[in-house]
Amino acid sequence: LTKKTKETYLSLRKEAVLNVPKYVPGKTTSQIAEEYGFNPETVIKLNSNENPLGASGASIRAIQKAAQNASLYPTADATDLRKALMKHTGFSFENIVASGPGMDSLIDAVNQLFVGAGDEVLIPVPTFTYYGISAIGFGGVPVYVNLNEADYSLDVDKILSAVTEKTKIIWLCSPNNPTGNVIDAETIRFLAEETGAILFIDEAYVDFSTKGSLSALVNEYENIIIGRTFSKAFGLAGARLGYLIAPEWIVSDLLRILPPFAVSVLAEAAAIAVLEDTDYLEAGVSMVQSQRPLLIENISKKTPYRAYPSESNFFIVDVSPQTAREAVDYFLKNGILIRSCDSFENIGKNTVRITIGTPEMNQKVLKTFETFGSIS
Ligand SMILES: *Cc1c(COP(=O)(O)O)cnc(C)c1O
Repeated sequence: LTKKTKETYLSLRKEAVLNVPKYVPGKTTSQIAEEYGFNPETVIKLNSNENPLGASGASIRAIQKAAQNASLYPTADATDLRKALMKHTGFSFENIVASGPGMDSLIDAVNQLFVGAGDEVLIPVPTFTYYGISAIGFGGVPVYVNLNEADYSLDVDKILSAVTEKTKIIWLCSPNNPTGNVIDAETIRFLAEETGAILFIDEAYVDFSTKGSLSALVNEYENIIIGRTFSKAFGLAGARLGYLIAPEWIVSDLLRILPPFAVSVLAEAAAIAVLEDTDYLEAGVSMVQSQRPLLIENISKKTPYRAYPSESNFFIVDVSPQTAREAVDYFLKNGILIRSCDSFENIGKNTVRITIGTPEMNQKVLKTFETFGSIS
């Protein structure tokens, strides 16, 4: 008998998996506190679009109570959560599927359902990077199509001319991360009818938008999927839970390929509780909606930098002639975590993304931009 070397087994790996690029996450408060010697309590975290109000009291109490059931499996398809989501979304049970970890798990499942070796997925950029990373793991080929340079709106003609017979999914995000703008229903209808592809519309930030959801289109089209998450407006990023609103045929296929018990007992309890705590959602959303125009206008008026309009709980700032890296470092020295956009396709090296925080946090953001502008 001879033990074989590692090299013998390396060749067993699927080639597609070796091509998967790394996702670049925003750093956590404790990572930064350790690196810079800060007190973690004083670090202002505005780099991952989390809810600055913290988790709702209702979901914290629900997790504590559910801990007693932590030894038991939940229902395999998160039945109670899907029922709560029926009430929240107005869609029927058969149109809803929930899963963890996060909406990211459902992005994977949708790619797994539609994308195989050599299939193409169209991705207007800049946008959330995980759509492409996930598709590559299933052998897919991301085809990046630039958004219009002036305002990051969709270039519909460019998308249409990039569609081929191999196009399976068009990944859309509204409000878009990181640019903050939304897509209108007419554009979605046009793409749904003119292409033979599945349209995935990521509505991770829809609660912060004044323009409403595109979800009603799921009732009209068999090729539209809406993605949602509990990580942002609902304040449960750590619970890792997302859901989709989709045509029945897609939900039923996804339920076959998702792992059973994909929503933990704790995450399900937290989510059901926060769905009932409408005051929490309302407080967070109205804080963002009232702070957003002030902060964006003040940065553009009082600093040398251009802040872009946004329908989300974050916005981008072009810090030219400084680089995003320089801005991120300067903010870090001042105890504020913001996100460089240089890991996103097609946005260059001079743009940062900032989560909208509490009024006190936003004051500090404005002051820090002012001093960054005056010393640079
Ligand atoms: C945060 C985010 C998600 C999902 O996050 P999960 O925490 O995995 O639910 C999806 N899309 C966009 C655009 C996001 O910013």
